[in-house]
Order: sequence, then structure tokens, then C-alpha cells
Amino acid sequence: AFDVLVVGGGPAGAAAAIYAARKGIRTGVAAERFGGQVLDTMAIENFISVQHTEGPKLASALEAHVREYEVDIMNLQRATKLVPAGADGLVEVQLENGASLKSKTVILSTGARWRQMNVPGENEYRNKGVAYCPHCDGPLFKGKRVAVVGGGNSGIEAAIDLAGIVSHVTVLEFDSKLRADQVLQAKLNSLPNVKVVLNAQTTEVLGDGQRVTGLVYTDRVGGDSHRVELEGIFVQIGLLPNTEWLRGSVELSGRGEIIIDDRGQTNVPGVFAAGDCTTVPYKQIIIAMGAGSTAALSAFDHLIRSSAP
Ligand code: FAD
Repeated sequence: AFDVLVVGGGPAGAAAAIYAARKGIRTGVAAERFGGQVLDTMAIENFISVQHTEGPKLASALEAHVREYEVDIMNLQRATKLVPAGADGLVEVQLENGASLKSKTVILSTGARWRQMNVPGENEYRNKGVAYCPHCDGPLFKGKRVAVVGGGNSGIEAAIDLAGIVSHVTVLEFDSKLRADQVLQAKLNSLPNVKVVLNAQTTEVLGDGQRVTGLVYTDRVGGDSHRVELEGIFVQIGLLPNTEWLRGSVELSGRGEIIIDDRGQTNVPGVFAAGDCTTVPYKQIIIAMGAGSTAALSAFDHLIRSSAP
């Protein structure tokens, strides 16, 4: 059995594995895709002390750093069930391939995925104008025209944030009203360079083969189709935590995020969590790494306080 089993190999999982392994304890990482969301990222400019890097480059650096230590990396392994510790004091993680792993402590770091619009052009122009994270990619659109798709809190926060950087923001909301908090809507309405379009269903991302040049939306009331010329599209229709497999075993929030305390502890003894799959307020690489380190130190603290040899 492992002392620490990390499930997920993104920034949070990599940091957790390194912090655990440096304590000289038996550490394993099971990950569906080592590297996580970082693999889907192009420019990264907010990983402090590294002025600019690219996702695949950072992902391979994560893996190389973990491999410096005695960590059992089980890549391309998807966890399907967690069984809290019984009399033997071991938490069990079952994998899709039928295997089952046992560990004294488990760190859940399965991350999240952005909900996509699923319209033509979205995948083709991902990272070429189609973006999901305003904190990450906002500055790349300085002085340009962008749209924010989604009028919930995250969409309106993104629109307010972007309005200070870009030349113009068009907010497209599917519903007949914005769903964001009133205070955010009031702030949005006070900005001169934002336009809100309600009842708008985005149907296509347009591009010139290299970059986004616009989008098409349908007015759900009139039924007519409109074209907006722009350089960027921020899709803000939800961030889905990869926690479906934990339902019924670990306490989740209404949005499916693993509920943790400030030490990364979940409601299940010996089970910790870190990164985008948790209730942590902001979802960023540097924050996920800090959380992974916290969870590993908490797991170690748990181990030295528990009686099992
Ligand atoms: P993830 O990176 O999501 O990693 C999750 C890991 O868990 C993966 O290895 C995955 O395969 C694995 N996994 C999931 N489910 C299972 C399962 N059931 N069993 C086993 N393994 C599983 N952040 C920044 O700070 N700066 C940026 O510039 C930036 N740009 C971004 C651009 C894009 C396009 C995207 C999508 C995100 C960007 N982010 C950026 C956000 C950043 O990538 C995330 O905050 C960060 O990767 C979260 O790390 P994590 O380890 O919590 O989760």
C-alpha cells in the first residue's frame, strides 16, 4: 500500500507528489492524462518567476520534476471509485482497468474542465482567439474587441475585468436576463465599452484559418442571425469539476466541487484534495500548486499522528 496516493497529474497533483516524496514516504500518482489542463494551454504568463512559457513545456517540466523522486507514476489511469478506509485503515481507489489501489492517505486533484459551446469553429480556434480564462488570456487581447459568452457571475466578472483591458466587450446571454449578482450587473452597466445582448445563442465561431475574426449568434426571440466582428471570445458557461466519480463517497458542494478546509482536508479521514476540483476560490496553476503542497503536508501530518505502522 502507498502512504500517499495522488489521483490526478496536473499542477496540484504534481506538487502534492513532490512534497510527499520529499518526506521519504511511499508515494504514487494515478492520472488519466499527466499534465492536466496545462497541456491544453498555449501562452502562460502568470506563473510567477517564469515570464513566459507554453503549456506542453510546463507539463513536461512537471513530469520531469516528479520523476526526480521515487514516485510510482501510473499514467493513463482513470479512477472510478473511492472507498473510505475500513478496519485496515486503508483508503481504496478503484481504476477503470479493474485494478484497485490502497493507500493510507489519498490526495484528490482531478481538476476541472470548461464547459464548451459545442459550435463549429470553437475547437479549431481554441487558443487562437477562443479562450476560457480571463485571468490567463485577458492581456493577450489588449486593445482588441472580444465577446464574453455567458451572463452568470463568472461571465459578468470576466466582462468587467476585460473591459479594462480590451477596446470593446459584447456579452452574449442565452436567457432573457443576466443571472449575475445585481452588484455586478450595476458595475457592468456603468462601463462605456460593454454591450449586452440577451436571448443570444452563439452558433458559430468565425476565423480566417489562423485566428478568430468573429462569431454568429441567433436572436432566440426574432429568430434572425447576427454577425459580430471581433478578435477574441471568452466562453464562460461553467467550469465542471472532475468529481462525478466521487459522488456518494466524498462531500461535494452544489457545484460538484470537493469541500475542503484550509488544510485541504475533506470530510473523509485520510482523504485530502487540492486544485480546481475543490472549493478553492480561484482556479489557476500557481494556486493549484500551492494547494497540492498544502494537501501533501496535511497528509504527512495525518500519517505521523495515526497509529498504523
Ligand atoms: P488539472 O490541470 O485539471 O489536472 C487534473 C488531473 O487529473 C489531470 O491529470 C487529469 O487527467 C486527471 N484526472 C481527472 N479525472 C481523473 C480521474 N477520474 N482519474 C484519474 N485522473 C483524473 N492557469 C494559469 O495559472 N495561467 C494560465 O495561463 C492558464 N491558462 C489556461 C488556459 C486554458 C486553455 C485552460 C483550460 C486552463 C488554463 N489555466 C491557466 C488554468 C490551469 O490550467 C488550471 O487552474 C490548473 O491546471 C489546475 O490544476 P489541477 O492540478 O487542479 O487540475
